[in-house]
Amino acid sequence: TLGKLFELSVEKFSTKEALYDARLDQRWTFKEWDDEINRLAETLRIHGIEKGDRVSTILFNTSEFAHAYFACAKLGAVFNPINFRLSEKEIEYIIRDAAPKIVLFEQAVEKGIQPVVERHPNIKFWSIDHQPVYADYYYDQVKNTKVVRPKLEEIHEDDVYAVMYTSGTTGKPKGVIHTHRDMVDQSLILMASQRLSSNDRGLSVAPMFHCAELHCAFLPRVHVGASNVILHHFEPHATLEILKKERITAFFAAPTMWNMMLQEDRSSFTLPSLRLGLYGGAPMAPALVQKVKQQFNVDLIQAYGMTEMGPAITVLFEGEQMSKAGSAGKPLLNHEVRIARMQEEGRTDPGHLADAGELGEIIVSGPSMMKEYFNNPEATREVLRNGWYFSGDIGYMDEEGFLYVNDRIKDMIISGGENIYSREVEDALFEHPEVLDAAVIGIPDEKWGEKVTAFIVKKSEGITAGELEEFCLESDRLANYKRPRQFKFVNDLPRNASGKLQKYLLRDQVKG
Ligand code: AMP
Ligand code: MG
Repeated sequence: TLGKLFELSVEKFSTKEALYDARLDQRWTFKEWDDEINRLAETLRIHGIEKGDRVSTILFNTSEFAHAYFACAKLGAVFNPINFRLSEKEIEYIIRDAAPKIVLFEQAVEKGIQPVVERHPNIKFWSIDHQPVYADYYYDQVKNTKVVRPKLEEIHEDDVYAVMYTSGTTGKPKGVIHTHRDMVDQSLILMASQRLSSNDRGLSVAPMFHCAELHCAFLPRVHVGASNVILHHFEPHATLEILKKERITAFFAAPTMWNMMLQEDRSSFTLPSLRLGLYGGAPMAPALVQKVKQQFNVDLIQAYGMTEMGPAITVLFEGEQMSKAGSAGKPLLNHEVRIARMQEEGRTDPGHLADAGELGEIIVSGPSMMKEYFNNPEATREVLRNGWYFSGDIGYMDEEGFLYVNDRIKDMIISGGENIYSREVEDALFEHPEVLDAAVIGIPDEKWGEKVTAFIVKKSEGITAGELEEFCLESDRLANYKRPRQFKFVNDLPRNASGKLQKYLLRDQVKG
């Protein structure tokens, strides 16, 4: 279980620095951290938390988040990290669905949460950073509690460890249920892929409520005995500063975060300690990958996956970043990734697989596959079939078994009867030096069915639709039918906290 693995780290690395919370400017050794976690676990127990009960967090990256994470794991409580960027309505939807007994939150999200607190008198809400009139103060709850080690013997590897709501770039969020064993397996596999050791110093700056940061970066680092720095939220300047000051060796950032760090003007800035940058969660244009490598002189690893799978299922290693540019890599240890051939009406099944180079739906099976969606057997049946998870992503495998992810099935554009994968068009646009960000969607068109439309965030004023059109026409960058027929210049693009484009918002915008 996650609690057991944590305690084994504490045994081995007792006096070593485990955690630094930049917001509080406070450090913990593994032993001190373990005491803090046990004190919180005992507090939760006193307040009625039993095995299987949900505890939610609406927190930025904080040490309290990290304490709650392992306190729940040790108690066998179900950890439910909620995205702090969600609206009041969305947060309430998750709280109704997950039905936690206790919720930890902080001031930064307070504005949206007071009405939710008032509508749910049976749930205990604890604020971690001040005492609001309508909720209790976290530190008042824990301060007088004794440090008591929870009874880890009562927690088993097949017990539920967390319910995590997927970012929901479409539709209502669904609660993904994972067991302890799922996360132990994910942690070990990611530890190996990143060659993590207790000498590493990691930074958690991508949101910890999202599985990419939590399971691929933070958890394996804790299990291996590395030190962990927690930065409250992402801001490119502060992130570069702390990477340097804390001599960070490895960290994860979503593609848009890397892009923003590149925009900081720092010709002579170096990060001599940094050995590894992990990216993923959304596609990263090869042109951007190259720039990051040049600017920060860092080895890169890409991970591809989804909350339902733990999340990582493939990685592209440093040595493959250039030779296999655009690929998401090969399956992780013990994972099977296949491309299911598109049947009529877009249906796919594991009995009909695509040939190398042929596009189809990416399906996968592996040890960290979710158990089910919480309270949603219908949605579970739709995606878990015959032992496979149907991802809803379109992609292909090349002759050497490298996976390429082209699009979400729902984002694919059909124009003049031809399928167009928005990612390919976005990657081409990213090659233009004046393009800061790009999103491509299809908008309804009488003649073509859908018209390829590009939303562009430009770096300076000096670029026009005509110039971009010419750029796309040049050489063999894009087949003619894939070229955007319309360019819209915008100040920024709607992205969720993990950096994924929310294309439905762009479609709404066009409709409006
Ligand atoms: P989530 O479960 O919210 O993390 O979303 C998972 C989805 O993010 C996947 O189904 C993909 O569409 C997308 N995704 C994740 N990682 C990558 C990647 N490395 N490249 C392209 N798309 C990705
Ligand atoms: Mg499993």
